[in-house]
Amino acid sequence: MIPARAMPKVYIKTYGCQMNERDTEQVSQMFVERGYTMTRAEAEADVVLINTCSVRDQAEQKAIGKMGMVRRLRVPLVTGFMGCMAQSRGSELVEKSKVDLVVGTQKYHRVVEYVDEIIRAKAERQMDDERLPVVDVGEESDSQNAIRDHTLKNRQGAAFVSIMQGCNMKCTFCIVPYTRGAERGRPIYDIVEEVRRLADKGVKEVTLLGQIVNLYGRHEFPVVDGKSPFVQLLEAVHEINGIRRIRFTSPHPIGYKRDLIEAFSYLPKLAEHVHLPVQSGSDAVLRRMHRPYSREKFVELVERIRAARPGMAVTTDVIVGFPGETEDDYLRTREMFERLAFDNAFVFRYSKRRGTPAAEMDESLQVPERVKEQRNQDLLSVVNRLALPRYQALVGSEVEILCEGTSKTNESRLTGRTRTNRIVVFDGNPERHTGEIFGVKVTHAENFTLFGDPVAEGGTAGRAGDA
Ligand code: SF4
Repeated sequence: MIPARAMPKVYIKTYGCQMNERDTEQVSQMFVERGYTMTRAEAEADVVLINTCSVRDQAEQKAIGKMGMVRRLRVPLVTGFMGCMAQSRGSELVEKSKVDLVVGTQKYHRVVEYVDEIIRAKAERQMDDERLPVVDVGEESDSQNAIRDHTLKNRQGAAFVSIMQGCNMKCTFCIVPYTRGAERGRPIYDIVEEVRRLADKGVKEVTLLGQIVNLYGRHEFPVVDGKSPFVQLLEAVHEINGIRRIRFTSPHPIGYKRDLIEAFSYLPKLAEHVHLPVQSGSDAVLRRMHRPYSREKFVELVERIRAARPGMAVTTDVIVGFPGETEDDYLRTREMFERLAFDNAFVFRYSKRRGTPAAEMDESLQVPERVKEQRNQDLLSVVNRLALPRYQALVGSEVEILCEGTSKTNESRLTGRTRTNRIVVFDGNPERHTGEIFGVKVTHAENFTLFGDPVAEGGTAGRAGDA
């Protein structure tokens, strides 16, 4: 136990992906269980932690800059980094940012215990204590099983569930295999139990999370009746009363085998949205990225997924300006985007990521920034031109949404998501609508957002695949 005094307040700033958000939620819950108070006011926190992302250099610089700012204004009792950058940089961060704690991606469950120790050591005035600072970036078997608790907000209707950690794919641009380690899946019964607990607390939608989510369990669990561990998991979660929507992210194209595509035809709770990162439409670039599929196979896959369920939305990630990408390679990507007309896409300009194979590629292969920017803008205009009419086409129809609460851009309005993951903004009653699934009549659409009015109960909205 830490010395008797008012329990410290903890502030955690999170950068990066949903997995990081989920890890932060777990750590916060553990702090609360230990008697700490979580605060959103950084200025009043005794413990300031930053959960970091390493996907691009900019994200690392932001986290380091943020910690510098925190410590310039005043030095909290404990400061520390967690997550991917903590994993890849380790004790270098202690030198650079003078923090007390650096905890890697397989040690989230030890953060509270380390903070206790640091506070105790400081209270005993053992400032030269050899226990300080604490750096733990080791591997830990079973760390994937430690992310399983939730801090739900009042009327929270949707939650993320981490089903695995790590990735073995080694795409040449990606740091994840080096920061998150090898693939490790949680047992199905444990995930089902967590989802059941969420459903008992009123959660209606779960998003299953993993870096390569649809290859879940491939090294640990057997294929049964031709079904992969991931499909077995989807079927088990589908059985849980109270859960009405199931999503998953982020899948890999090679994980879409016949059994998973078929699952969309007999598991109605699977939402009609697939985020399928293509990364490039050129076979030559895909090979250099170490993505084990061809452009042709990807196109065929999207067509099969769309055929499996009417109204399916497909979104993607793509990188422009990867080393060696010629104008012809880029035009292949552009052509694929024209053909597949994604519902939305995240377009990234390639930037070197220290520690990845692509960062070591020959300088002569690097694409000038000006060209990357042109390709970025050009591809975004293709995405917008093809996706926005789909939003316009929904004006006048009813869509089923799960209300998430107050809109981030306009606090007097509410927001929710359709089954196809489109954002809908409307006037409503937070007490009545938050966390509920109901129909909204779309009145207009702009900038990848729908606007509308809730329909009276007994309306026709609420069908699967409505938007
Ligand atoms: S599959 Fe995803 S997480 Fe794994 S290495 Fe490739 S981009 Fe990174």
